[in-house]
Amino acid sequence: MQKNNITPEMEDQMVEQAYQNLLNGYLSSNHRKKVEVIDKAFRFARDAHKGIRRRSGEPYIMHPIAVATIVSQEIGLGSTSISAALLHDVVEDTDYTLEDIETQFGKKIARIVDGLTKISGGIFGDKASVQAENFRKLLLTMSEDVRVVLIKMADRLHNMRTLSSMPANKQYKIAGETLYIYAPLAHRLGLYAIKTELEDLSFKYNHPTEYQRIKEQVLASEESRNELFARFSAPIRERLDNMGLKYEFNTRVKSCFSIWNKMQSKRIPFEEVYDLYAARIVFECGDDESLAKRLCWNIYNEVTEVYTKHPDRVRDWLTTPKVNKYQALHVTVMGPDGNWVEVQIRSRKMDDIAERGFAAHWKYKIGEGEEEEELSKWLSTITDILKEPEPNAIDFLDTIKLNLFASEIVVFTPKGETMTLPKGASVLDLAFTLHTDLGTHCIAGKVNHKLKPLSYKMNSGDQVEILTSNTQTPKPEWEKFVVTAKGKTRLRAALRHQRRLVIEEGERRFMDFLSAHNIAFSNEVLSQAIGRQRVAGKEELFFMIGNDEITLNEDMVIKKEQGTRFNWWRRNPFKGKEEPKTTNQPTEAISTKAVYSLKTSDGVSNYQIADCCHPIPGDDVVGFLNDAGEVIVHKMDCPALARLKASYGSRLLETKWEDHSDRFLATIRIEGIDQKGILQTIVNIISTNMSINMKKMFVTADQGVFNCDLDVLISDASVVTNLCKEIKKVKGVNSASRVS
Ligand code: MN
Repeated sequence: MQKNNITPEMEDQMVEQAYQNLLNGYLSSNHRKKVEVIDKAFRFARDAHKGIRRRSGEPYIMHPIAVATIVSQEIGLGSTSISAALLHDVVEDTDYTLEDIETQFGKKIARIVDGLTKISGGIFGDKASVQAENFRKLLLTMSEDVRVVLIKMADRLHNMRTLSSMPANKQYKIAGETLYIYAPLAHRLGLYAIKTELEDLSFKYNHPTEYQRIKEQVLASEESRNELFARFSAPIRERLDNMGLKYEFNTRVKSCFSIWNKMQSKRIPFEEVYDLYAARIVFECGDDESLAKRLCWNIYNEVTEVYTKHPDRVRDWLTTPKVNKYQALHVTVMGPDGNWVEVQIRSRKMDDIAERGFAAHWKYKIGEGEEEEELSKWLSTITDILKEPEPNAIDFLDTIKLNLFASEIVVFTPKGETMTLPKGASVLDLAFTLHTDLGTHCIAGKVNHKLKPLSYKMNSGDQVEILTSNTQTPKPEWEKFVVTAKGKTRLRAALRHQRRLVIEEGERRFMDFLSAHNIAFSNEVLSQAIGRQRVAGKEELFFMIGNDEITLNEDMVIKKEQGTRFNWWRRNPFKGKEEPKTTNQPTEAISTKAVYSLKTSDGVSNYQIADCCHPIPGDDVVGFLNDAGEVIVHKMDCPALARLKASYGSRLLETKWEDHSDRFLATIRIEGIDQKGILQTIVNIISTNMSINMKKMFVTADQGVFNCDLDVLISDASVVTNLCKEIKKVKGVNSASRVS
């Protein structure tokens, strides 16, 4: 593997240099200088990994050094974490044991290395239950010592930075998993810079073409952007200089990933993303917090005296910082070119916290307990979820993820206590958060003294009282409006418990019935009843009896008409053993026949087009090997695939279109202002000008606005893109784009 022109001496020198760089960064930080332990850890790890190389061909030790450097310079942690980062792969990959680490480096470092070793297999394995178990481990170790997860984050970041040396199908898996769990986790920990980089790197490997294109477009527009910013900033700079401030004023371009997200969600081309960048003023003012806030407002005044501000776009994170302690003043003003520009105003310290979040607090060493409070609150939610056994691994992951992404609202109980809940939380969520019994018996809420239903979505500042009734029981349909992790978990547990009670009641009735008719209970009697009722097993039989869906009478097997209640628990994903297919394995909606030719990394030739996203030739696609051994081809950005990717990453196959002479169905959605003859014009473009075969057209018009869904047969994606472009030129048309 070693390249010919690199001598062992040169390699040693490279290692030594990387290590020196780590030390220099540490020495210029605010931490106490405990170089000795770091030095010892470096030598220990270097000797332990001696002779081992990474896939890229580098000596293995370069990886722990890089991780330790991220831990020190990008997350801002001290000597304990740096040492643990240097040692993080020793127990996993070499003959040394945890005891060796403990004797050499003490309990604290050993415990962190242990945590890192336990979660080293990656969060997601090949089986959903194993994944959930590993993820559970990760979160549990995190609640023991958050440094474990911070170091794990650095490990993942370095692996993502060096992902190009991995084979393509591994890249998809790692990138998918990063986007699914690590980026949100980084966000929640306040590691914004790392979160953004993880997202961008995942995007780069999942959508290489789009990534490259956006990157080039950002680069191409740089000059005009700089010119514009120079014009925009000059009058503001003059005023800030007059204030005698020491400051930095520059621009931050959105990440490729968030530009792409915006293009997708608004269905606009790159050129129409006008808020491509934000301007940021970071000023120096020491540690005085009230001075910092005052200066923010002074700067705000200067900015808004030069430019007109957007009336609804002032964000004051000074008076009420975000839950993760983000503080800043944001104002959007009309720039000289007529576009809105967001200006973010922060002190140096606010900026540090914004970029490094939670970890930045170590740097400032203020009220350490207070800073950790928020995180530990979140961790206790996790611990709560972990306490409730979730039988379904994928749902478990979704629940956790839900809470990673959520932004919060604060509501008040009648006693004036505050409760923090994710945005979108319902009255029922609050009830379950307070107590399981309150949740299961909840009938309504009084929000600001007005009666509201269980499903009512609360707003920040609401005062909410929970109303209960003893006769209330939990309903499966409640799952639709319970959004908190705690609420979901507790509701599901209550539903399972309730089902259990019904089954017990059914069994009791069945037994009573038998003895009333002098029939001795036997397995034969039971299986006969199961057979005649055509139910799956005795649980279902007893459940239906207990739920009054089967009436026991002389003939033993008279079945009531199927009512609405009949099926409710079938839809419940926690049914257990009867239909494991629906809970533990990915089921795929498959179109009937493959009519195209593709090439996968494995040479499997059994293809189906996924029914969820309908990829057509020209789309970026990836194959997923299902249980039946067929390859289901999804669009790279299919949401259904994202989930499979994260969970069953090892079943992904790199897939490319080979030949696309066949015709594919695509739907185009057109929106516009209804004008005389507009449809005629559109139809002409499609069938006469472009000779495209139209299958179906569905038009609705409402108060002058028309919507048209158009099915066309085309040979590949570029035709659709061209067609949309042409349609958009028609006067009155607002938008035209492909929908899936
Ligand atoms: Mn590692």
